[in-house]
Amino acid sequence: MNIKRLKGFRDILPSETPAWRLVEESASRVFGKYGYEELRLPLLEETPLFKRTIGEATDIVEKEMYTFTDAGDNMVTLRPEGTASTVRAYVENGFARSHPKERWFYMGPMFRRERPQKGRFRQFHQIGAECFGWAEPAADADVISMLWDFAVDLGISSRVSMEVNSLGCASDRSAYIEELRKYLESRSDSLCSNCKERTTRNPLRVLDCKSPHCQEATKDAPSLENYLCEDCAEHFTVVCGILSSEKVPFKVNNRMVRGLDYYNRTTFELLTNELGSQNAVAAGGRYDGLVELLGGPAVPALGFAMGVERLVLMVGEGAGIRSAPGAYFVYRTEEGQRRAFSLKRQLIGEGFKADMDYEERSFKAQMRAAGSSGAAFAVIFGESEIAEGKVTIKDMQKGEQVTLDDKEAKDVLIQRLRMESELGD
Ligand SMILES: [Zn+2]
Ligand SMILES: [Zn+2]
Repeated sequence: MNIKRLKGFRDILPSETPAWRLVEESASRVFGKYGYEELRLPLLEETPLFKRTIGEATDIVEKEMYTFTDAGDNMVTLRPEGTASTVRAYVENGFARSHPKERWFYMGPMFRRERPQKGRFRQFHQIGAECFGWAEPAADADVISMLWDFAVDLGISSRVSMEVNSLGCASDRSAYIEELRKYLESRSDSLCSNCKERTTRNPLRVLDCKSPHCQEATKDAPSLENYLCEDCAEHFTVVCGILSSEKVPFKVNNRMVRGLDYYNRTTFELLTNELGSQNAVAAGGRYDGLVELLGGPAVPALGFAMGVERLVLMVGEGAGIRSAPGAYFVYRTEEGQRRAFSLKRQLIGEGFKADMDYEERSFKAQMRAAGSSGAAFAVIFGESEIAEGKVTIKDMQKGEQVTLDDKEAKDVLIQRLRMESELGD
């Protein structure tokens, strides 16, 4: 029997998890300061949740969802993104009516059955934030500032750029889409086959096609900017004004659109050119109609999601601290093991890391293990120590050692380990 993990899935090994935690802890810390609370959502939802919110005519719903019928004949789907579930939870738990102003963040795996390619996984991870209850442009500026501050906290801000755009309201967009479609139809011969199809179904997406032919052919396509109504234009002006005065660096990109149907007005992306063509590390925007679409009252909202795999690549898979044990215990005989076990546990109780082998290997082998563990101290219960009721503490860096009784040894170890950890900080 040779069972392997599924194609497109991966194991995140202990050597990588410190970098993952670095990203997750940075997000929790920064979002928490902005008043966001953590929400934990189910991985599995009823299929119509995603069909209704993401839209039937999208690649995600048409081709990529992990959808199946469970034993009770329910059509269920592994969540392909987090916003739909967040809004569902917001409506279902009564917040939309009783306490509409909420700011939440979530993190966890998402699932899309995409064609396997380098750096893309069928189980991937997102951290997202959603801000419910405010239509004001200050809310948009606050969310974008928070995303920027996260990039600063994580230490990647010099390697990313923020782009913003306004998609206007539904009526602005339908007027624009009509003009855009006419324009695209007149250039249909120069478009890739995907974009030919998009011209009828989802013409906005043609604007962010990566094909150079499509980009060339749509160079002077009508710009959505010129179709914004007065209110939408004013909203966007205020968002940009706040960001400018706050010195959050950004660029307006009028060609930035969204694959998902539910976005309106402000939309933004955090981009990098370090990861090849897959260059958005975070994307988001306003989705004022989504709460109503899921059976709630009309509550304005906006948010974003970040790709954790991409952020981990940016900080470096080896980033983050793997803590070495503070003390490694070396012993002979059963009595030595008991005393080592007890002292090790007392140190752990005091907040330090400590380790030992459970198997009584040769003294030499245990000392080697102490050395390769990276521990600051070896704590030795050898035959002479046991005979005298003592224990030896060896400083692994300096090579100095001192022999004490167990109680003294504990006090000395606590004192020395505390000094080590202060030095480490
Ligand atoms: Zn408008
Ligand atoms: Zn194209």
